[in-house]
Amino acid sequence: MSVPLPDLVDVDRLALRGGRLEGRFAIPRFDRLRDMVAEPDGEIAFALRFYQDSEGRSRIAGTIEGRVVLVCQRCLQRIEQGLAAEMDLVALADERDLSRVPAEAEPLLTGGEPVRLTELIEDEAILALPIVAVHEQCAAPDPGLSGGGDANPFAVLKRDR
Ligand SMILES: [Zn+2]
Repeated sequence: MSVPLPDLVDVDRLALRGGRLEGRFAIPRFDRLRDMVAEPDGEIAFALRFYQDSEGRSRIAGTIEGRVVLVCQRCLQRIEQGLAAEMDLVALADERDLSRVPAEAEPLLTGGEPVRLTELIEDEAILALPIVAVHEQCAAPDPGLSGGGDANPFAVLKRDR
């Protein structure tokens, strides 16, 4: 049985008690990501571990993994893209503390407020998106189209105009 996921996460409190959050969100749950994909199909799974490091910083270690549908920039057909990323975040209430972020980690500016779980996952998913999505090998064009004859359904539409 899984416990319901909280909307808001108090990173400092969870880090103190060594909390863990695991789950998955369907793409339509993400306000920004859903506008960046070709179809609202797919989901992002995540597993997060909260802890206090030896210097008393609140940390989040975790992974995200998922699948989104994008548009191939070469053939303009849909392409299913796997996403995977590892997270190593240091929660900071104040950006003046940026110097406390070790080299291997990324800052998570919280302003001392709880963070929205969907936004935390969404930020990582957007970072994991490919800059340009292309098929390794685009589907070969239908040989019937290259003849330019009646096999091309758009040819009929053109003639009707
Ligand atoms: Zn393609």
